[in-house]
Amino acid sequence: MPHQQQSRPVRRLIIAGGGTAGWMAAAALSRTLGKVLDIKLVESDDIGTVGVGEATIPSLAQFHRLIDIDERDFMAATQATFKLGISFENWRARGHDYIHAFGSTGTDHWTAGFHHFWQKGREAGIAADYGDYCLEHKAARALRFGHLPDDGLVYAYHLDASRYARYLRRYAEHFGIERIEGKIADVQRDPANGNVAALVLDSGRRLEGDLFLDCTGFRSLLLGQTMGVPYDDWSQWLFNDSAIAVQTESVGPAVPYTRAIAHDWGWQWRIPLQHRTGNGMVFSSRFVDDDTARAALLANLEGKPLTEPRVIRFTPGQRQQVWAGNVIGLGLASGFLEPIESTSIHLIQRSIVRLLQLFPTEGIEPADVAEFNTQAADDIRTIRDFIILHYKVTERDDTPYWRAARDMAVPPSLQHRLDLFGGSGRVFRSQNELFSENSWVQVMLGQGLIPRTQHHTAHVMPERELAAFLDGIRTGIDRTVAQMPGHQAYVERYCPGG
Ligand code: FAD
Repeated sequence: MPHQQQSRPVRRLIIAGGGTAGWMAAAALSRTLGKVLDIKLVESDDIGTVGVGEATIPSLAQFHRLIDIDERDFMAATQATFKLGISFENWRARGHDYIHAFGSTGTDHWTAGFHHFWQKGREAGIAADYGDYCLEHKAARALRFGHLPDDGLVYAYHLDASRYARYLRRYAEHFGIERIEGKIADVQRDPANGNVAALVLDSGRRLEGDLFLDCTGFRSLLLGQTMGVPYDDWSQWLFNDSAIAVQTESVGPAVPYTRAIAHDWGWQWRIPLQHRTGNGMVFSSRFVDDDTARAALLANLEGKPLTEPRVIRFTPGQRQQVWAGNVIGLGLASGFLEPIESTSIHLIQRSIVRLLQLFPTEGIEPADVAEFNTQAADDIRTIRDFIILHYKVTERDDTPYWRAARDMAVPPSLQHRLDLFGGSGRVFRSQNELFSENSWVQVMLGQGLIPRTQHHTAHVMPERELAAFLDGIRTGIDRTVAQMPGHQAYVERYCPGG
């Protein structure tokens, strides 16, 4: 087939929406392509942003490194704290908790992961808790933090979402982006090919572009409403469809982890920042009404509320294509998975990096679009399975919500992983998948899925050798953690917010 160019070169880029998605895209694109592209971002102060999205995962630090954002500067500007993992409380059973920590646990053998050796040690009564072999886990429990040489500690941030958008705006404007305040009243299409031709603002101003990034949040004004791309609804596996968010005063030192506290029909987040705490309840309207969920949230706050609780509705799922014609959806406009593993900002960042890799400078090629869509679909599907795992594997059967979660049929891709781990303790990461084997193991063990057997490599290890191996790892970690300062004191010294 002769090579066919499908559209004109891309010189004018319009970003519709200025939440975290819009401004992350603006920052990265202005920094890398600002000299060759005319980039405009339109946002509406009247509409505002979703205003949540404050827990991240370690990939955000990589994103900042790619575009030369200084960590101290960013953390001070966004009143950020460090995050070493997520504490899951009452998920496996009431009163039980575990931490899904970043980083690795123990040392793997090439034939078998560390958990095989740990489990063998556990059965012999010579192994401590699984988390005791993970540096990030131990530091989180001890409320300690420190930058270690050679990027030794794997961490992410808790950040103030509104301040982060403002910070990225300053950055992007410095690199030449034009910000336009206004409400998009109409989206005009080119009758020749169905692509978006221009956005018309309520002021009457018309913004023409070659490529449009839809960052309009749940409205999905361009990708969903204009291009009509259907939405895959995953609520048969992910029952939660509502959240209530409220900010409170900080109480006590900031812990270096997000708290995810399960309730009878959902779960509650606590995200400690320097100047306040972000809180919210995520729940299923099939199992509880707003008033009950709000009352439970307000009864479980630690500090005085600073804002009115507000309800946010969502449908878990993803648009069938995130790139359609000359429109690419980023952030909530493209899909949403509940924030239990803080994956949405990561998915925005992945899409931005992918866009930069496939940027259609000389015209939009169908093969590039197909590749973009395939990669985006793979990304979110594996994350979806990981999130469903938190509900499916539980010993809780005390409420209709948890019974329905435990009894549901899960996607075959997840069932296969559960069977593989439950039988032989084996776990494999698929290519480009976000969550590592160690993440899967921590959550599967944490939720109560214990493999029936271990790998023979662990079985053939003599018990004295196994004890020395396990002790060596644990005591090394304890020594390192003992040398770290307290998290709160470290943040106050390293990056105090103004
Ligand atoms: P928004 O923030 O909603 O921004 C939309 C933008 O579009 C705004 O600027 C708005 O003004 C503009 N806009 C819309 N319509 C128009 C119009 N007609 N004209 C002009 N402008 C318009 N993610 C994480 O990574 N970690 C978390 O801990 C986390 N927690 C979450 C908790 C909840 C309850 C929810 C719902 C989401 C959470 N997320 C989290 C997801 C995260 O909030 C989003 O991925 C992130 O904020 C990006 O949002 P956005 O920019 O896509 O949309």
